[in-house]
Amino acid sequence: MKKYFIFGLAVLFGTVLFMGSMPADTQAKVTYVTIGTGGVTGIYYPTGGAISKIVNKKRKQYNLRVTVESTGGSVFNVNAVMAGDLEFGVVQSDRQYQAWNGIKDWKDKGKQKDLRAICSFHPESIVLVAGDDTGIEKFMDLKGKHVIIGNPGSGQRGNSIDALTACGIDWQKDMRAEGIKAAESAKMLQDGRVDAFFYTVGHPNGSIKEATAGKRKVHFVPVEGACIDKLVAKWPYYAKAYIPVKFYPMARNKKDVNTFAVKATFVTSAKVPDDVVYAITKEVFDNLEDFKKLHPAYGVLTKKNMLEALSAPIHPGAMKYYKEVGLK
Ligand code: GLU
Repeated sequence: MKKYFIFGLAVLFGTVLFMGSMPADTQAKVTYVTIGTGGVTGIYYPTGGAISKIVNKKRKQYNLRVTVESTGGSVFNVNAVMAGDLEFGVVQSDRQYQAWNGIKDWKDKGKQKDLRAICSFHPESIVLVAGDDTGIEKFMDLKGKHVIIGNPGSGQRGNSIDALTACGIDWQKDMRAEGIKAAESAKMLQDGRVDAFFYTVGHPNGSIKEATAGKRKVHFVPVEGACIDKLVAKWPYYAKAYIPVKFYPMARNKKDVNTFAVKATFVTSAKVPDDVVYAITKEVFDNLEDFKKLHPAYGVLTKKNMLEALSAPIHPGAMKYYKEVGLK
């Protein structure tokens, strides 16, 4: 025991001596920031990982450490960033718009005035996967079925409720809706415990691969029709899109599937210091080619389109960088 104590003292003493001999700048206070993402089988989680990987390479220069947290998704992230529990979040563009304008999930809380945008990432489409044995071939066939519409806190929950409501399906009465997390949805479908699930996600995605490559034969159901056209026309954040089926060769569909889409965006709070946001923005944009190698969904990213689909004001730290490089 005594031996350990003496050893401990020696280590402590040594550390103090060592720190005393370090140049002043290496002792500067380290800032820790966390990015809220989504389920571990989504693309938000590796997106947070990609950002932290790029930025943490320069940790000595910025005295900054970026960590990543798996969360329930977009709505959770907005609320956690606004509460100061997280500094950054990956958030669907529709959720950013709704939070900034104080509508939908933020109707009671009001406008999230401190929400700030940084940039956007990959497009995410509203994916509906159903078992071949369920008889769900068209969107309207969801009536009476057992369907995962997304967990509370996720981005997809709002998209599936929007689509169902627009097409006159009452998700609380006309079907058996489940609020299960995306990370568990593929297995639930494969195990025959649900008929279908919704997920708003970029491509290629691991969960969708898992859902389409199992024993139970499944297919993508087109999210289309006059009711969807009306929905997309109503909201600035929705756009028509398709699911590229080449990524999911085991799904029954042989042609790309019509649906609508949003974009993944990156947000923070007005309370997060400019130099922190500047460092993260600069490292992601200056190293965009390396960043893009970290997930195939980023293939379409350009510095220009990464400034699209933002509704909240751009954080001054990010704006400083965009002005420096002539992007704004
Ligand atoms: N779009 C989903 C959400 O907002 C997350 C998708 C992902 O993790 O890639 O909850």
